[in-house]
Amino acid sequence: MPESKIESSQKKQSSEPSLVSPSEALSILDSSQSLMNVVQTASIPREKYFGKKVRIHILDNIKNGHCPEDCGYCAQRKNGNSGIQEYSLKTSEEIFQEALKAKESGAYRFCMVTAGTGPSEKSVQSLSSTIKRISEELGLKVCLSAGLLNSEKAILLKEAGLDRYNHNLNTSESHYGEICTTHTYKDRIQTLSAMNNAGVGLCSGAIVGMGESNEDLVEIAFKLKELKVISIPINFFIQVSGHAIKNPGNLTPEFCIRILSMFRLVNPDSEIRVAAGREGHLRSLQSLSLFVANSLFASGYLNVKGSDIQQTVQMIDDSGFEVEWEGSEGNFISVEPHPYSSENIKNLYKFKKQ
Ligand code: SF4
Repeated sequence: MPESKIESSQKKQSSEPSLVSPSEALSILDSSQSLMNVVQTASIPREKYFGKKVRIHILDNIKNGHCPEDCGYCAQRKNGNSGIQEYSLKTSEEIFQEALKAKESGAYRFCMVTAGTGPSEKSVQSLSSTIKRISEELGLKVCLSAGLLNSEKAILLKEAGLDRYNHNLNTSESHYGEICTTHTYKDRIQTLSAMNNAGVGLCSGAIVGMGESNEDLVEIAFKLKELKVISIPINFFIQVSGHAIKNPGNLTPEFCIRILSMFRLVNPDSEIRVAAGREGHLRSLQSLSLFVANSLFASGYLNVKGSDIQQTVQMIDDSGFEVEWEGSEGNFISVEPHPYSSENIKNLYKFKKQ
């Protein structure tokens, strides 16, 4: 693998400058440029930094429901009445056993997601000892998505071995009040800054299709660039039962590809992930997204079922790309057969919503 790609996969922060200005980014979203021109332009940095590799991510939901926040897009929000199953934070041993199964199935990274405003000090202590055990005993890289945090908590989690923290910006500052009233955009930025300062890599992205303007989308992309976010999941809003988004946008597959291309050109060396909603919103253009994005979720999202891994691997193979697997030193390599190959797929740890 060329050195630049190895460096890119090991970095904790994005460092390459944007390849487009805000006005050029805006023009990508309207139909003045042909879709194929847009995809071709965005495929250049995609190939430069990630070659033909596609990273597959699987989530593990370790705490569901019981949330006092009112994020309008979320099935777990207060008063959502979505009928999802609620459960408290799993025990440290339960989480460790799930990480062990993931490791045995070939996973390189273990992503834990909790519902709620943010973890208490007691929860941070418990999460820290779990993270330490998983990273030291299993050698897995650990990602966590646990809501709002201050600097002290960020440092504790970093010292425990946390590799990456997910906290999505979701939308632009001016649109934030339309999607949530119980916390602010500034709260989110403070959490991301605390993690950045603690030296934890940032995973932060957007949920598109919540009534935002094209200008809002461009603003989010440049804010993520400013925060040097290394991993950017782009979610396409799924109208879950009980959601409170007033004006969900009408996303077309073509517009979804334009959005992914715009995020790639603003954040050329960041991982751009096709996240929740790809099946319903990109539909028959899902494989085209791989030419500008280099990562995706498989097997399901927080409270919504997604494509299974076998279908996802087939799409990657059919499109001429390769599934990527991360070695123990943190550099991304291909192995034959890769962990998600048909030979290994029957053993793969499946994401469960218990
Ligand atoms: S996104 Fe997180 S904080 Fe917001 S309602 Fe859902 S679980 Fe709660």
